[in-house]
Amino acid sequence: MKFSYKKIPLSVKILTGMGLGIIFGLLAVQFGLSKFTSDWISPFGEIFVRLLKLIAIPLILVSLIKGVSDLRSTAGLSTMGIKTILFYISTTIIAVCLGISLAYIVRPGNFFPKEQQQTLCEKYSENVESSQVEAEIVTKKGPLSFLVDIVPDNIVLASSQNTMMLQIIFFSILVGITILLLPRKKTKSFRKFIDSSNYIVLKIIEIVMLYAPIGVFALIASVISDIAGDDPSGSLSLFKALGMYVLTVTLGLFILLLLFYPILAKLLGKVKYTKFIKAVLPAQIMGFSTSSSAATLPITKKCVEDNLNVNPKVSSFVLPIGATVNMDGTSLYQAVAAIFIAQVFAVDLNFIEILTIIITATLASIGSAAVPGAGMIMLLIVLSSVNIPVEGLALIFAVDRPLDMLRTSVNITGDSVISVIINKAHSKIKT
Ligand code: ASP
Repeated sequence: MKFSYKKIPLSVKILTGMGLGIIFGLLAVQFGLSKFTSDWISPFGEIFVRLLKLIAIPLILVSLIKGVSDLRSTAGLSTMGIKTILFYISTTIIAVCLGISLAYIVRPGNFFPKEQQQTLCEKYSENVESSQVEAEIVTKKGPLSFLVDIVPDNIVLASSQNTMMLQIIFFSILVGITILLLPRKKTKSFRKFIDSSNYIVLKIIEIVMLYAPIGVFALIASVISDIAGDDPSGSLSLFKALGMYVLTVTLGLFILLLLFYPILAKLLGKVKYTKFIKAVLPAQIMGFSTSSSAATLPITKKCVEDNLNVNPKVSSFVLPIGATVNMDGTSLYQAVAAIFIAQVFAVDLNFIEILTIIITATLASIGSAAVPGAGMIMLLIVLSSVNIPVEGLALIFAVDRPLDMLRTSVNITGDSVISVIINKAHSKIKT
């Protein structure tokens, strides 16, 4: 039988890229090749992430305008919208509560060696300060500023920044609704233009995906080499000190992945979990490699549409909103991290303070941008809401990247499950 590269499933190719990336990264650490890796390997990962981000905004614009304008009426859109938001908020709250419960059961703070506290606080104090500046910008705003922020005052400006995805979503829905309200004759040529643009964007995604195995290889290799640097023993002892904390977050994320989402997918989406995981695996790996739900969006969309038959009208609406506001992994991580830091600094939290953590972690995860490290910056808001020392952030800085990779995978899995559920509920929508 003739070997054909084309016939190998995408997930196998990406997994191979990831495996080779791990091997290369470990070898680079072993042989002190971190400079070589950052000079000659990581640019190929950077190019991949740029390509994905490049296509994310055109994808949202075109597919959302098309998705909304193809609906029969605005009533369908509003019920889908309300259901989606309700699902997103409830899964996030469940994730926070799971994180808090695990942090109280495992008590990771009690395993943290006290002598490391001072060293870490000094080592990462600068990083904490710069995160504080970013978090302050958010907290200084009024309570309704998030609503104001959703509405763009300049669409060109909003499209130029990947962190303003909600504004693009708002604009696209507005254009879609306007098309619905106008007589069809008047919008004929624009709809044709959007249809063709949609084909072009989807083809570009296919082209970019050809490069995915190499991109994933380069991303994973450089992350491993960045984390360990040329001093693997130093990083290893840090990981040991923070081992219980890392374990608690990881355990929570895996409970979401292997227990919570399967139940949701089976009960409400009527999809077997093995089928579901197989279908979204490429997107999960991409989330893991890029640490960005926004960059992963094109692949998440392709996976649920091609492998789970989710109607593009549903995925075009549910997934971009999910990538920006639905971050179950991030909210769970923020809950565990807050309680871990409180335990290390011996801060006792009462019932009201725990409730405050539930509310702020939910809001902070919604407010986190879908880019690497955003969840950690927003964690500062959670910490300050209950007077946990913000310097505590320094304790967890060193292990944030691997946890970010994991939580991003969980974030996009959560979005995919909800897209399947909403698709089931709106199965009457015609493609
Ligand atoms: N990197 C995460 C995402 O894009 C956000 C975070 O938790 O930092 O989903």
